[in-house]
Amino acid sequence: MNSKRWVGAHVSAQGGVANAPINAAKIGATAFALFTKNQRRWQAAPLDDKEIETFKQNCHLNGFSAAQVLPHDSYLINLGHPEPELLAKSRDAFVDEMRRCQQLGLSLLNFHPGSHLRKISESLCLRNISDSINFALDSTEGVTAVIENTAGQGSNLGHQFEHLAQIIHHVEDKSRVGICIDTCHMFAAGYDIRTAETCESSFNLFDEIVGFQYLKGMHLNDCKTAFSSRVDRHDSLGYGSIGKVAFEFIMQHPATTSIPLILETIRPDIWPDEIRWLQSISR
Ligand SMILES: [Zn+2]
Ligand SMILES: [Zn+2]
Repeated sequence: MNSKRWVGAHVSAQGGVANAPINAAKIGATAFALFTKNQRRWQAAPLDDKEIETFKQNCHLNGFSAAQVLPHDSYLINLGHPEPELLAKSRDAFVDEMRRCQQLGLSLLNFHPGSHLRKISESLCLRNISDSINFALDSTEGVTAVIENTAGQGSNLGHQFEHLAQIIHHVEDKSRVGICIDTCHMFAAGYDIRTAETCESSFNLFDEIVGFQYLKGMHLNDCKTAFSSRVDRHDSLGYGSIGKVAFEFIMQHPATTSIPLILETIRPDIWPDEIRWLQSISR
């Protein structure tokens, strides 16, 4: 069997980031995601040289290039925050996350766009997000900011493809901004992907509104909630309301070669099976 695409999961970095590539290799992954710091805290100790070296070594030994790694930022960061002080705090934390990726020799950072918290308009919030990305790109080098589409829970933006296009529109350096499509989020947000036909139309819509040239990664998750629920609950592939067809479509789509395809499904014990299945349907 040919490993035609880069498939893996969001693995644990417990005990240090250098453990993540080892954990990924153990499940047969050819891609992985990780948090480079505790995702529920603002502060983290800087990465030390030894840890950085070991991480790079472990990536190299297990065949992971930077293009196969999709780090995820902290859940606390809101790059569209309506209040100036908290927006500034989020921006500083995001720059720190970008720098950590840069130090680790990585080229992507995946994040959720932001929330207006019902205090500012959608368009102002989207503009804050673009400006936050501009600030982060100005303060770092070599790392692409990869915006994840959301389920649209609460006041989170990024559930409509138009939001993603709008954010990108105001980013100055378009060579360092991209999109990560999460299948659970897109389905919960109202883009149907249950059949080959609906996959075709939903992904074509993405191409029209945003463009596949911006697709830098994907999160492959089934969804526990109903279509268009705007509620984000992941499920194992084939066990939720999306079903298997969407993943067959994705594994045969030309836009998903050479980008990390990451499982965030709920049963790590079956990740090796999910990865094997995805590779077996890759064309
Ligand atoms: Zn995410
Ligand atoms: Zn995701």
